[in-house]
Amino acid sequence: MARLVMKFGGTSVADMDRIAHVAVRVKREIDAGNQVAVVVSAMAGTTNQLVGWTNAAAKIPDRREYDVVVASGEQVTAGLLALALQNLGVPARSWMGWQLPIGTSDAHGSARILDIDAGLLEAGFASGEVAVIAGFQGVAPGGRISTLGRGGSDTSAVAIAAAIKADRCDIFTDVDGVYTTDPRIVAKARKLDKITYEEMLEMASLGAKVLQTRSVELAMVHNVRVQVLSSFEDLPGTLVVDEGEIVEQEVVSGIAYSKDEAKITLLRVADKPGVAASIFGPLADANVNVDMIVQNVSEDGTSTDMTFTVGRADLDRAASVISGLKAQLDYRQLLSDANVVKVSVIGVGMRSHAGVATRMFAALAEKGINIQVISTSEIKISVLIAADYTELAVRALHTAFGLDAD
Ligand code: ASP
Ligand code: MG
Repeated sequence: MARLVMKFGGTSVADMDRIAHVAVRVKREIDAGNQVAVVVSAMAGTTNQLVGWTNAAAKIPDRREYDVVVASGEQVTAGLLALALQNLGVPARSWMGWQLPIGTSDAHGSARILDIDAGLLEAGFASGEVAVIAGFQGVAPGGRISTLGRGGSDTSAVAIAAAIKADRCDIFTDVDGVYTTDPRIVAKARKLDKITYEEMLEMASLGAKVLQTRSVELAMVHNVRVQVLSSFEDLPGTLVVDEGEIVEQEVVSGIAYSKDEAKITLLRVADKPGVAASIFGPLADANVNVDMIVQNVSEDGTSTDMTFTVGRADLDRAASVISGLKAQLDYRQLLSDANVVKVSVIGVGMRSHAGVATRMFAALAEKGINIQVISTSEIKISVLIAADYTELAVRALHTAFGLDAD
């Protein structure tokens, strides 16, 4: 007997037929003698529609009322799935976040889960009643409904798995696992059997949008084994696990890319103490996240060029912050470029293998692709290149690191 959390995303519960299909899938685990807690998303498209309504109702919607509205999508699917299970003779009931409760911070719209009371879920396991839990929502300290940010039902599922000490958290979605890279641009992308939490975090935050990043962080902290799999096919998916569980580790596990990048260059800014702080301090104050940074050495010891990247949506804001500092910073010119993409090779195997950067740069050079900015961490190397070369670069790297399917 295993204890499982089964989470179904929006496409898996998109209509009544699919909800009925999900009920059959859940029943199969029950019939096999497993204990199951189910977490559901809203039907595909519903949350977008709800968000749209809040924007139509108010120019800047009160975040607490926004949460009341957008949390309702999951309430519907939780009730419907409980009905579909009952229909199959499986005792089931729905649970809203506030009923368990799933306690969150009061950051409405992007609340963090603070604690989950597993008492009622344990009672359900004891009595054989399947809990169908509305994902994405919880309750803030004042008793008001909160939501966890878009894609947050993954995080609900992992948090519940940690709270009930589940053997595994299965995330059913519309893809059959995590791939070595985006299969839409590399036909030879391979499904991974296993990936480490750290690699998955890099893949998730670098643009492979399979799991909400926060859910992976949570899984890593609580050591929850997560499986990403398709709700439409009956195949094992990709296990996201601790490094120790992976016997034969490849040097590079995947190639990710992110189009959500923009580059800013300040030409001829003073090369003296305090300059970086006076550029990046005001950007942080304006809530602009800076990612890659390069500063050249100055030829003459007085001025240098500074290049950095920000999210594409923040480019205008960042440029206006920097322009406002023109008098103080005394740079010659501000250049910006939104036509860039960040391509990364990722793998925990890099920690123990030299030469990954060289192989990466050589593969790009061979295709005539110019590298604009480089950044590295222990398990990844990222380069910024012109957006036009995205596909060429990802394909070349996929081949260079031996990831192509035969
Ligand atoms: N329904 C919410 C959303 O679309 C939460 C989720 O599906 O994970 O963002
Ligand atoms: Mg999702």
